[in-house]
Amino acid sequence: MILGVLKEQAGENRVSLVPDVVKQFAQLKVRVLVEPDAGVTAFYSDGAYQEAGAEITSRTQILQQADVLLSIHPPTADTWQQARSQATWTGIFQPLFNTALMQDWAAKGFTVFSLDTIPRTTRAQSMDVLSSQANIAGYKAVLLAAYSYSRYFPMFTTAAGSIPPAKVLVLGAGVAGLQAVATARRLGAVVEVFDTRPAVKEEVMSLGAKFVEVEGAADASKAGGYAVEQSEEYKQKQAQKIAESAAKADIVISTAQIPGKKAPTLIPATTLDKMKQGSVIVDLAASTGGNTEVTKNDETVQYKGVTVIGNSSLPSQMACDASKLYAKNVLNFLKLVIDKEGNLHLNFEDDIVKGACITHGGDIVNERVKQS
Ligand code: NAD
Repeated sequence: MILGVLKEQAGENRVSLVPDVVKQFAQLKVRVLVEPDAGVTAFYSDGAYQEAGAEITSRTQILQQADVLLSIHPPTADTWQQARSQATWTGIFQPLFNTALMQDWAAKGFTVFSLDTIPRTTRAQSMDVLSSQANIAGYKAVLLAAYSYSRYFPMFTTAAGSIPPAKVLVLGAGVAGLQAVATARRLGAVVEVFDTRPAVKEEVMSLGAKFVEVEGAADASKAGGYAVEQSEEYKQKQAQKIAESAAKADIVISTAQIPGKKAPTLIPATTLDKMKQGSVIVDLAASTGGNTEVTKNDETVQYKGVTVIGNSSLPSQMACDASKLYAKNVLNFLKLVIDKEGNLHLNFEDDIVKGACITHGGDIVNERVKQS
């Protein structure tokens, strides 16, 4: 089998495969082709790939030869139209938001594995790109907030006066949110957390943060660990409590998302109006609509003294480690579909292979995508 690694488009520093993982593919009898400079923005040189056993060759050659093509984001139409119709694509393709593209890819005959749709199960953990990348986003969001904030995070008692600790509010305690809690605590902040899933309370408390409970959350136990839409009554109660916490907060890290839907607006303008001058919000839900009323994706907005950062590319800003973890996720996933001779062998009885597969045999095969 031949694996082809494409260079991402401008603005994305990560790469889908790193030299260390090339070596592991070689042990699986897989030949790896890499586009020139594919890893350069993540500090992996062409020489390092060659030393690991990969061949550096043009994008056109890769598209004509590779059985499995790797990218992080969907490539441009100019690129995918050149690929062989038997090609298999692996990446983070957000199929619930990119349904038209998935239909085009099905019509072209591609087999598409979107790693953001694998089940969130214990067995799938080592392939979970959402977790590896969200963990980085949560960490980096706190550092970005600290950098943009004009006061200290930790408490200080100095000869020149005392500094109180920063108050951090985290909305959504999934992977990114919990890492944001841990990072903010390491920097000495006092942290409060909201989530619609009461199941996360213990994890939040074990990190030394306070979990603010809102009664009457919808049962999310059948949603595979994800959040579900809430009732109007719950939303009103929650909005009031969040408004109270936001008014006291110096920093807000918001991460609340619902798969396939627009992110909930947890901080309307009326709440922003109550926030302190100089406070900072980092909205990690910016790409799916944002958790504040004023969030703009990939922009920083100043709203009456509050800085609202809608940066959706934080993993790209830690491209070296983000690529390393992503590549390991890809390796662990592809091991499920590579046989002993190094050939592609798709077993749709496997719930992870089935969950990740979006198109196959000319059709959209993923139930969630079909229904969307
Ligand atoms: P996500 O990015 O989809 O959402 C982030 C968080 O926002 C979630 O905790 C969600 O409950 C919360 N949220 C949604 N709407 C909200 C609202 N209105 N108010 C407050 N909070 C709200 O979540 P994620 O980080 O991708 O994690 C999703 C789930 O999958 C979690 O339960 C996580 O622990 C689980 N998970 C399991 C595994 C595994 O077992 N292999 C791996 C990764 C994640």
